[in-house]
Amino acid sequence: MNAADTLMEPDTTLAHAWTVLEAVPDPEIPVVSIRELGILRDVRRGADGTLEVVITPTYSGCPAMSQIAEDIGQALNAAGILPHRVVTVLAPAWTTDWMTTEARDKLRQYGIAPPMGNCGSGHTPTEKTIRFMPRAVMHATHDRPACPQCGSVHTERLAQFGSTACKALYRCLDCREPFDYFKPY
Ligand SMILES: [Zn+2]
Repeated sequence: MNAADTLMEPDTTLAHAWTVLEAVPDPEIPVVSIRELGILRDVRRGADGTLEVVITPTYSGCPAMSQIAEDIGQALNAAGILPHRVVTVLAPAWTTDWMTTEARDKLRQYGIAPPMGNCGSGHTPTEKTIRFMPRAVMHATHDRPACPQCGSVHTERLAQFGSTACKALYRCLDCREPFDYFKPY
């Protein structure tokens, strides 16, 4: 589009773009940025010199990806970083392991239980009868996330899908608060 831009000092523009993109929030969970979630993979020059923003979708079923691409475009436009394009990279597949520790803490503060354990297994909480466990057992089960409100591990799954396909809906049996659990993936 704008040939003059390709003549700019590449490093300056790339660094500027990183700074701009680090502030782009996730559309579903605005307390965390796409960088913190691990969705933003790279900012680079394409073969033709155009600035490329590399993103990896989270869950394939998440409709947020087109919104994220749109938000990236708007942020770069607003910063005057043109031309640019968003490149979606599917491999390696996104995993909740890419979430930063900060992102997990922010999720918890936001009332969403962050993913537990490692991904890769595609493991989802299994259906079984509720068993009562001692309060002291912190990692009582891999099946149930701790309540982000009170920290109790007495939680039960209400639905396979919460507010989005990425999350399951849980309820705390102690404080009775329902909450979303960001499923490990
Ligand atoms: Zn609770």
